[in-house]
Amino acid sequence: MSRLADGRPALRLKPGRDKSLRQRHPWIFSGAIADMDGDPEPGGTVDIVSADGAFVARAAYSPASQIRARVWTFDAREDIDAAFFARRLARAVAARAPMLDARHTGCRIVHGESDGLPGIVVDRYADTIVLQLSSAGGERWQDAIVAALAETTGVGCVYERSDAEVRALEGLAPRTGIVSGRLPDAVTFLEDGIDYRVDVVGGQKTGFYLDQRDSRAAVRALAAGREILNVFAYSGGFALAALAGGAVRVLSLDSSADALALARENLGRNPRLPAERAEWREADAFAELRKLRDRGAGFDLVVLDPPKFAPTAAHAERAARAYKDVNLWALKLLRPGGLLATFSCSGGIDADLFRKIVAGAALDAGAEASVIGRFGASADHPVALAFPEGEYLKGLLIRKTA
Ligand code: SAH
Repeated sequence: MSRLADGRPALRLKPGRDKSLRQRHPWIFSGAIADMDGDPEPGGTVDIVSADGAFVARAAYSPASQIRARVWTFDAREDIDAAFFARRLARAVAARAPMLDARHTGCRIVHGESDGLPGIVVDRYADTIVLQLSSAGGERWQDAIVAALAETTGVGCVYERSDAEVRALEGLAPRTGIVSGRLPDAVTFLEDGIDYRVDVVGGQKTGFYLDQRDSRAAVRALAAGREILNVFAYSGGFALAALAGGAVRVLSLDSSADALALARENLGRNPRLPAERAEWREADAFAELRKLRDRGAGFDLVVLDPPKFAPTAAHAERAARAYKDVNLWALKLLRPGGLLATFSCSGGIDADLFRKIVAGAALDAGAEASVIGRFGASADHPVALAFPEGEYLKGLLIRKTA
């Protein structure tokens, strides 16, 4: 095939394989490609053309990945350059303006594909930004992205946490460190008026699970007068929200001593919260839930926010067993009339399968239970309509009726 007029490398699709792209899905899998013209570098810009040579999209080339290219734009007139990243970032930042105020000084400001920036995640914690690049395209434009972030947001520090496991699939080594400005001694921010320190250097993800903002607010609203079990507590988000909402007792479990140390510290940062009502226990959740049950413990509200047991559909079966197990024991620990807020952040388990798993857990626990609410990631984690893969976090609010 011939090169396009401007000499840009091009990937030509097999016949009919432009369909998902025409519907604005941003990934081009290796199996859809007929041939390549030119010799793009990793992360370099390529035009995607249909079998008959018509322009379909402009994308970043990922030679090492099964997702061989990720779309930057469907507009043939749009160049991919520093100005492109400045425009996309400005748009994403503007969309988050309603989510930042005096009580909330942090949120996700770029959510990858759903913000038109595949493989690029940016979280803001007050005056510090954490950047996570996980695709060859993001990697190629790192300088432009950092410059545009500093410019658009005016923050004092951009810290890079490009150490997610998925980078390996793109042939990228982990990279972390300060890329702009100076990291404060303690990175802190407010969520719902609660003060958290975020370990951006060594913490999980970029340091905080911002996607659970709405769910923590829901638990806060349900907490008054309740005894609460908070399983998979990390740095204490749900526990502090529950205490702020008037919980009479919150027992939090996590297997990570570092996470619990940070959770304790976070409680101390908020002297108006009743610290004497909180207990933190370092334990494996699977074993500890059984132990609690053996001792006859009971709770009015259980929060289950486990790690990603199934990153992809291939892990779904083993993950389903793990989800079922923790939900079963949580339901046994609930008093009649009690509530279970249960979550899955596994991309490999969709909302319907998750509901079925929890239904199976209720059956085996001998509990009658109903769904009385549903949770998803907060609005700073949008899901583009054409990109259902973006919908990873789901949650159910369950009432145990008997
Ligand atoms: N609810 C938290 C986020 C939870 S992330 C928030 O709102 O911030 C999942 C947590 O589960 C991590 O802190 C991890 O240390 C913990 N974890 C992973 N496996 C575990 C296990 N088997 N038992 C207990 N905790 C576990």
